[in-house]
Amino acid sequence: AYIEDLDGHRYLDFVGSWGPAIVGHAHPDVTQAVYRAVDRGLSFGAPCEDETNLAELILSALPGHDRIRFVSSGTEACMSAVRLARAATGRDLIIKFAGNYHGHADAMLVEAGSGAITHGVPTSPGINRELARATLSCRYNDATSVQSMFERHPGEIAAVLVEPVAGNMGLVLPSDGFLESVRELCTKHGALLVFDEVMTGFRVAWGGYQRLCGIEPDLTCLGKVIGGGMPVAAYAGCAEIMEQVSPAGPVYQAGTLSGNPVAMAAGLATLKLCSSNGFYDTIGTRTLALAEGLAQAANEYAVHLQTEAIGGMLGVAFCKQRVQDFEDAKSCDHRLFASFFHEMLDRGVWLPPSGYEAWFISASHTNDDVSFAVNAAREAFGALQ
Ligand code: PLP
Repeated sequence: AYIEDLDGHRYLDFVGSWGPAIVGHAHPDVTQAVYRAVDRGLSFGAPCEDETNLAELILSALPGHDRIRFVSSGTEACMSAVRLARAATGRDLIIKFAGNYHGHADAMLVEAGSGAITHGVPTSPGINRELARATLSCRYNDATSVQSMFERHPGEIAAVLVEPVAGNMGLVLPSDGFLESVRELCTKHGALLVFDEVMTGFRVAWGGYQRLCGIEPDLTCLGKVIGGGMPVAAYAGCAEIMEQVSPAGPVYQAGTLSGNPVAMAAGLATLKLCSSNGFYDTIGTRTLALAEGLAQAANEYAVHLQTEAIGGMLGVAFCKQRVQDFEDAKSCDHRLFASFFHEMLDRGVWLPPSGYEAWFISASHTNDDVSFAVNAAREAFGALQ
């Protein structure tokens, strides 16, 4: 749960490599699996046993899906899923939500969250304008905005791409009925529903948020945790759709290092740890305790702080009301967050350095770590007065 910098300072880490480190850093089960794989060779350009084993384990956790394709980054997973959705429907337009982040492929950098908004350019320059025009942006937690978009572009929308729990504009949970309505709209209008669970997959629950909400997307994008810190991501779906991907079908997608044996070994060892009894209950309880402790500490100093927690993800927002969408997220006090970040860093706690990012709690974070972070936050709120 800790990292150390070049000058020997030790920090309690809530960045967790931006999500993958769900069992903490250098877990012996993971490093041993990697060493064993390294000894056999780094890459062969052919399927390996761990690739099949990891594929089977992931698919066993995703009820609606029976095929999966590994890629090397979440960006590739989302980009490929969108290409597949366009091919499968014969349509060009996609809907995404303002403040959701789906990696840095051209079509996705429209009103994007994460680093794109942190650095002030949610719609990046340098992207193909035609492609950007094919990406329609709706309001998160607002199914009516999706309905209007479908009505404005009948028969043209290939897919709706959504972070089922948004983790790139802080942490924003889906409001009651939002994802259900989006599912219904996609089915009604013949578009594919793509859950981007790159962040939430095997992070908020075994499988991902779809296991908690019971909604089956047509395609799922995964990344982060499934590689345990190695460059692994994937997209998955039912056979009928996935078999359109090359070489079974005509939709081209390939990667020299996809399914790399060392990366597969890290992912498999990580997911085996995640599959142990009570894994997500323990991590969820600690995350909740941290969220409650932070809220209480803020309250003691009359600081307006909203906290959210789900599985091993936590969010803080310096504002008076719960954040529901990108506009709410942008209206939070991000300067105050920056000061808070530095006060925490000075006290040995490393947070994601932006109010638009979620925090990640690992199985290596103990109750004492949670207390340490809450005490540091109490001091930080005091120092900010
Ligand atoms: N999708 C989501 C929801 C993400 O959070 C991220 C990265 O943070 C991505 C896609 C892109 O993944 P990668 O950074 O591996 O390309």
